[in-house]
Amino acid sequence: MHPFALERPRDLSAALAFGAQAGRNDAPAEYIAGGTDMVQLLQEDVRRPDRLISLAGLLDGRIESGSQGLRLGAAATMAEVAAHPAIMEQYPVISEALLNSASPQVRNQATMGGNLLQRTRCPYFRDIGYADCNKRAPGSGCAAIGGENRWHAVLGTSENCIAAHPSDLAVALIALDAAVEVLGPSGQRVVPLAELHRLPGDAPHMETVLEPGEVIAAITVPANPAARRSHYLKVRDRASFEFAVVSAAVALDMDGSRIRQARIALGGVGTKPWRVPRVEAALAGASLDEAALRQAAAFAAEGAQGRGDNDFKIELMQRAIVRAVGIAGARA
Ligand code: SF4
Repeated sequence: MHPFALERPRDLSAALAFGAQAGRNDAPAEYIAGGTDMVQLLQEDVRRPDRLISLAGLLDGRIESGSQGLRLGAAATMAEVAAHPAIMEQYPVISEALLNSASPQVRNQATMGGNLLQRTRCPYFRDIGYADCNKRAPGSGCAAIGGENRWHAVLGTSENCIAAHPSDLAVALIALDAAVEVLGPSGQRVVPLAELHRLPGDAPHMETVLEPGEVIAAITVPANPAARRSHYLKVRDRASFEFAVVSAAVALDMDGSRIRQARIALGGVGTKPWRVPRVEAALAGASLDEAALRQAAAFAAEGAQGRGDNDFKIELMQRAIVRAVGIAGARA
């Protein structure tokens, strides 16, 4: 493990002044909150910051639900949010995404902000025994392209990186048009969650639009009638403590037995949480008839590119959409 100094700032403005940078392996300073992902990567020598800036006790952890929507303080834990009565009742897709993530022990420790900024599960990224990883070592190549890539993305990839985004929570939130409140040395700004994560392009080592010093302070979700009739479907290799092979977050606004508006996002298949507007448009006015759902879900495959081992995801994600829409539509 690379030696680092642990800083414990007295308040948030002192923490921001360190200029820590999220989602970059070349950052000399990084924030640590729950630490569930960070500590693993420090132990494996994948992340090598000289300084860790502790956010313990500095960020809001409140969960607020009202007529305008939801606000989740960045320090709220996965377990607290998953078990909150208003979220279980009014935003089941969020609660289900969290309960299908990690383990009870991890959910008790991991925070909302940290969940959105967790690093990819690409095994080549997480094992420094592999030299070729543009995300960990810019310009070194990509061992997954041409290597074993069953777990990798089929949407939003580039010739430099095909790593799938790992967060279940982000998939549920993006379906609900969530945003993040960001605090930094130059003030506060709001970033739509759909714009927080970057596509890999030719710079896969830069994962988010956060500037040096910026930290996620809260997540906001606007009120929407579809949120109540929502579902998170996760397909994975084992029943617990496993990342998604494919997942689908669905929220439906129904007009009787027909879909008035659908919101759909996919996980496990994109290099960032992946919304599918063409599928949503095709579902507007559709019934829950399986043939109609299947026809709409086919639009998810537009632009998808398999790399061999992960070709099956292109079909599986369409089936996941059909199944998740059916489950959400059957909800009262
Ligand atoms: Fe690295 Fe991305 Fe290639 Fe994985 S897919 S080895 S994270 S560059």
